[in-house]
Formats: sequence, structure tokens, C-alpha cells
Amino acid sequence: MHDDLTRLSSRKSFFDDLRLLTSHDSNMGNIACLIINIHDLNRINSSLGYNTGDKLIKAFAERLRDMLKETDIAARIGGNKFALLLTSIMNSGHATLAANKVLMILDEPLSIDDDKISIKVSIGIALYPEHANDAETLLHNTEIALNQAKTTNCDYKLYCKDSDSTKQGDLILEKELKNAIEDNQLVMHYQPQISLLDQRPCGIEALVRWQHPVNGVIPPDRFITLAESCGLIVPLTIWTLNTTLRHCSPCFEHKEDFNVSINLSAALLHEPDLVDIITQSMQIWGTKPNSLMLEVTESAMMINPEQSLQTLTKLHQAGINISIDDFGTGHSSLAYLKQLPVNELKIDKSFVMNMTDNPDDRKIVHSIIDLGHNFDLKVVAEGIESEQVLSELAALGCDIGQGYFIGKPMPLIQLQHWMNKLLPKKVLPQPIKTKINNH
Ligand code: C2E
Ligand code: CA
Ligand code: CA
Repeated sequence: MHDDLTRLSSRKSFFDDLRLLTSHDSNMGNIACLIINIHDLNRINSSLGYNTGDKLIKAFAERLRDMLKETDIAARIGGNKFALLLTSIMNSGHATLAANKVLMILDEPLSIDDDKISIKVSIGIALYPEHANDAETLLHNTEIALNQAKTTNCDYKLYCKDSDSTKQGDLILEKELKNAIEDNQLVMHYQPQISLLDQRPCGIEALVRWQHPVNGVIPPDRFITLAESCGLIVPLTIWTLNTTLRHCSPCFEHKEDFNVSINLSAALLHEPDLVDIITQSMQIWGTKPNSLMLEVTESAMMINPEQSLQTLTKLHQAGINISIDDFGTGHSSLAYLKQLPVNELKIDKSFVMNMTDNPDDRKIVHSIIDLGHNFDLKVVAEGIESEQVLSELAALGCDIGQGYFIGKPMPLIQLQHWMNKLLPKKVLPQPIKTKINNH
């Protein structure tokens, strides 16, 4: 029943459990299967000896065991392969968080005798019943995901159903995305926000684009989900944060109440060093904490509400502002939201864009503004595409506006021109006047 070396479940016992859990009468709900492959074990065995290799496997198994819940199952299914069965899984977000946890337990090198040895792993993930209806297919698909993780050089990969040409295209993109971050192919665009009270600029949202050397500009909707599915979202976000703060430090010199907003994906809420990463970057670029706004969607928070609350509280204690993005489209409860230390609600653009034609959308926008104000929060409306929507929002008392009518996301240089046109002269550095002598 057990693997001799690690005392985790054996391969056979793991298959038996998997068959049982996925049988029709088990009523198990969602299950995630993860296969973890340790890299370079052969090299370690040949350079440091099999004894050290065995100790390494044992130490890794110990850490795996410590991170699991009682209902989870861990097994060693091959020389350098481990498998996990996680039973209390709600969705794919939970499963990728578990993969992140496995990576985290390897942040610290393993202590073997007097040495410290770091190991790297690749992880494949597939879900039952989303990706497979029976044990054999689930394992097979987890192996496919593992191979995709290895070939794309990613830490982990969630199985994706269709391996049609577009998904093949995704795999190629994913492989290239890693280089894109290192090769500076990513660029930041900034979309202005104005105060609806006096129509002055009061902030910007930083939105990333990928300037692909062959395919041209790739929009974030196309590659952020890819980055999220394979663990690249953390380095990508660190890059966006540093670049944005570097670019925007001059904006803060001109205006006291000017915010820069950065989007945070769910994985970042579970990154243990998030607060340190952000505060370090703010120190380097001289950003005051209250000039930074972090946008998090309701759906991202709901993947692990408790952990999200903890992280957001720490950020809030560091003086950083939090905005709930795409407000009105997630599945959070007001009971949960009222505990969050947030400063701003950002009404989803789907309600704003149609509010002049659709009375229901208008009512939703109105209600969110009232809700936000009753909780002393600022309310931002994005997706403002016409003057009519802009004036209606102002009449409803909405605080801040963002949308194509005001300004599209633009590169830094264009943003500077845009701001120069709109900012009152006194807050801009004045040109030095030279006397012109006509004679
Ligand atoms: P989001 O955070 O909801 O960003 C707003 C999106 O709405 C942006 O699309 C923006 O260009 C678009 N938008 C703004 N005003 C209007 C308007 O008046 N009309 C219309 N039709 N659209 C408008 P974009 O830049 O393509 O970004 C899409 C999504 O990608 C973002 O949605 C965000 O979820 C994600 N994203 C972008 N940059 C980053 C990033 O640096 N990190 C992370 N984690 N996600 C990002
Ligand atoms: Ca946003
Ligand atoms: Ca949004």
C-alpha cells in the first residue's frame, strides 16, 4: 500500500483510490489530480550518489505531507514522480493555488546531511469531472498537462480540453511569453481617469501589452490567462509594477491626489512576499503608498476569501489603496465585502457602456454608486464611451470616470501630452520665458 522510501501511498494504492473516488456512486464532487515531476534527479544521483538522491526524495515527501489536508492523498508513482489527489476543490483556481503551494514549499532548499539542495519541479493538473469522467482519462490528461508544462518551461500547467490549432497556438505563445518578459517585449499603456466633479485627471490605470516581434501587439485578454495558467503571472506582475512606478514617478510630483492603478491577478493574493515586493518597488521609485491603487476582481478574491482578506489587510496596513474591479459581476457576498479594507469600487464596464439605453443597467450603476458611498468608498465607472454617459454618471454623483471618450490606453509619451493639455498650468513645470527683442 505504501512506497517504501517515502511512506506515501504506492502507485497501486493511488490508482485504487482514484478509481474509487471517480466511480459513479462516490458522489465526490470536484477532484484535482496533480502530477509533480522532480527535475534533474538523475544528475543528482550520479553526482552526489543514490543515497543523497533518496534522502532528497524523502525530504520532499515530508514537505508535501505537511502541506496537505487530511482528506488529500499523496503518492509516489515513479522514481521522480509524485501525484496528489485533492478532494476539497471548488474550481481550477483552487487547483492552481495548490500547485503554487507546492512551488512555495520548495522556495527553501532541502537540507540533506550538511548540504542544502534546491530542486525544481514541473506540475501537470487536471480536474475531475471537468477534464475527465474516469480515473484512467484523468491520469492521462494530467500527464498531458505535465508534458505541456515541461515543453513550455513552465512551473505548472492546467490541462486544456481542446488540443486544436488555437490551443497549440496557446502553447507556442506560452513558451514565448517567458522570453517576452526577459526580452522586454512587454509594454505598458496607461488609461487616464478623471474626477467627474471637475473633469481634472486624477489617476491612470496601467494596462500591459505584448509587442510580439512577429505577431504585432497582443492584447492582455489573450495572454494574461495564459500567464495565470502556468505561473508566469507573478514575474509578469512584478515587471508591470516596476515599470509603471518608474514611468509614473514624475506624475506624482505634479499632483498630490493622483493615483496609479495596477491590476492584480488571484495568484498574487497568495504570493507570500507580495507586500515586500510592492513596498520595495515603491521605495526604489519613491512612490508614496497612498498613490498606489491595486485593482482586484471579486472573482479573484473569492478563490480563497480568507487568504485574500489577510493579504488585502496587510496591503491596507502598508497604506496602499485597494479597488474592487469589475464590481457587480462576481459572486461575492456583501457580508464578505464589508470586511474588506477597500477604498474604491470600480463598476464593470458592461453596465456603464449601455446605461443610457438600458434602464436596468442604469439602475445597477445608480445602486452601486449609492452602495459605495454608503460605505464611504470612492466609485469609479469604466467604459465611458460617450458624453451622454459621462454627464449621467456625474449627475448620479459617481466620483471618477475612465473610458474611450476620455482617453484610450496609451503609451507613456502620449499620456504625457494628454496630461499637459489638461492639467492646470500651475501644477506643470513652467517653460522658461525668454525676452524677445524685436529690434
Ligand atoms: P480591466 O482591468 O477591466 O481593464 C479595463 C479594460 O477595458 C482595458 O482593456 C481597457 O482598454 C478597456 N476599456 C477601457 N475603457 C473602455 C471603453 O470605453 N470601452 C471599451 N470597449 N473598453 C474600454 P485591456 O487593456 O485590453 O485589458 C483587458 C484586461 O486585461 C483588463 O481588464 C485586465 O483584467 C487584464 N489586464 C490588463 N493589464 C493587466 C496587467 O498588467 N496585469 C493583470 N493581472 N491583468 C491585466
Ligand atoms: Ca482593472
Ligand atoms: Ca474592469
